[in-house]
Amino acid sequence: MFGKMMHQSLLISNLIEHAAKYHADTSIISRELNGQITTTNWSKVQQNAKRLANALTTFNLKMGDRLATIAWNNHRHLESWYAISGSGYVCHTINPRLFPEQLVFIINDAQDKAIFFDSTFLPLIVAIQDKVPTVEHFICYGSREEKVLTALPNVIFYDELIQNQSTEWNWPQFSEETPSSLCYTSGTTGNPKGVLYSHRSTLLHTMAISLPDSLNLSAKDIVMPVVPMFHVNAWGIPYAAAMVGCTIVLPGPNLDGDSLVSLIDEYNVTVALGVPTIWQGLLTAAKKRGTSLASMTRNVVGGAACPPSIIRDFKNNYACDTIHAWGMSETSPLGTANQPKAKHLALNEDEFEKLRLTQGRPPFGVELRIVNGDSITALPNDGHTQGNLQIRGPWIVENYFNQEKSVLTSDGWFDTGDIATLDADGYMTICDRAKDLIKSGGEWISSVEIENIAVGHPEIRMAAAIAARHPKWDERPVLIAVKQENSALTEDDVRAYFENKIAHWQIPDAVIFVDALPINGTGKIVKAELRAKFSDVLLNSALA
Ligand code: ADP
Repeated sequence: MFGKMMHQSLLISNLIEHAAKYHADTSIISRELNGQITTTNWSKVQQNAKRLANALTTFNLKMGDRLATIAWNNHRHLESWYAISGSGYVCHTINPRLFPEQLVFIINDAQDKAIFFDSTFLPLIVAIQDKVPTVEHFICYGSREEKVLTALPNVIFYDELIQNQSTEWNWPQFSEETPSSLCYTSGTTGNPKGVLYSHRSTLLHTMAISLPDSLNLSAKDIVMPVVPMFHVNAWGIPYAAAMVGCTIVLPGPNLDGDSLVSLIDEYNVTVALGVPTIWQGLLTAAKKRGTSLASMTRNVVGGAACPPSIIRDFKNNYACDTIHAWGMSETSPLGTANQPKAKHLALNEDEFEKLRLTQGRPPFGVELRIVNGDSITALPNDGHTQGNLQIRGPWIVENYFNQEKSVLTSDGWFDTGDIATLDADGYMTICDRAKDLIKSGGEWISSVEIENIAVGHPEIRMAAAIAARHPKWDERPVLIAVKQENSALTEDDVRAYFENKIAHWQIPDAVIFVDALPINGTGKIVKAELRAKFSDVLLNSALA
């Protein structure tokens, strides 16, 4: 007879059981809505998850039902993630910064049965409650609050819901292919689309992101996901933290640089994760305070291209290694992470930096290729040929929620909508999103490259390059920039700064200074809004 190994489904409940068993006293630090800090631990998170799982049995739910959360990163939110997915329901994390019509759309599309929410979002809930007929239960995180009760008489308070429940609970066992969570893309074009993750995809992704050549997470770490739990599951950190048994610091609603610096210094955060705009704010605050962010060994940046100036600042002034990572909602999200190989340690400083500025290489489980437009023939991985980036693997989407049609190519790859280069070792560089590329007289100009140079100027705080319509060249780059406080920088100064940094014909035709750039719910610059506002500037000006 042949031998056989045990079969055990890869379930999210295994993560919380592991954390509670082997990392019971490891702290979970969480900022409450009122600014106070609560410290709990993996054992207590598991117990509350079990209490909530017991409470949910009274909700008249069936396996696969969607339960939504609209909340910041905090310990109650974490407990409910484990209770919901662990019980066989789908945890649908909602981005509160979507427009109310989009919120209504996604709640109805998902047919959510319940919404868990932080009281910050009470006005939002009150405004939409009559438009979401499938929602039977509204649960407000925290203890009883009169103002919430008055505005939403049928509300249930989370603390009351779980307080008398038993911690005796056996997680149901089911197939690892069962859906576990649902996250909608921000829908910059058309309606948002839901990506439905499974227990299996989540656990495999969790293992991959924890590896040394990914985020290198271990039980020695104190990890702070600044990236919200409603943005692709906080990039998987709440699961990975349970898997490796590290401390997790949940920053609640305060995502400004100053609040984050306080948490890092007070709780000795070793690794934090966020989009580039978060790091810009954090670096400004750290400089003002004069802190060295001594505990931080690394930070992870993704969600949008990370300007080299941010990576240099962290390295040179804070001895903090920036891991540049790339991914999207459709990819769980990790597609690549930037970690060097042994052979790279022999590179000179310039070459090494060049390598570290790329978006990195895929972990086991992810395969990448670049193709030309709609073709399915792979282009060379030579580090400079640009093509449409496609991806496949066990944590990559096949079809969107409620849509039967596969979104894959005829040979089974997902097209990311990004334009990239790949080198022979798989190091990938995002040149641009296909829709953000600036097409000037038949040549492509990367908006990312222009932005990276612009924010390297000490007097520019933020910048976005967009395509403006042009009578002769079809499109030409225009830079929209926010100056540092008290800067007297002029348009000519900025254009001159680009000389010798990129080809002359790629220098923006115009520089427009604004007080702030539009930022979406996940902290990214909304270029569509900038295009709507500024894409005709060259047609109307003497520059044309
Ligand atoms: P949305 O499309 O709504 O912004 P996602 O969060 O899924 O939602 O964003 C995925 C996109 O973000 C990617 O396709 C890519 O264009 C961009 N992106 C993510 N990480 C990086 C990165 N490190 N560098 C450049 N672009 C990135």
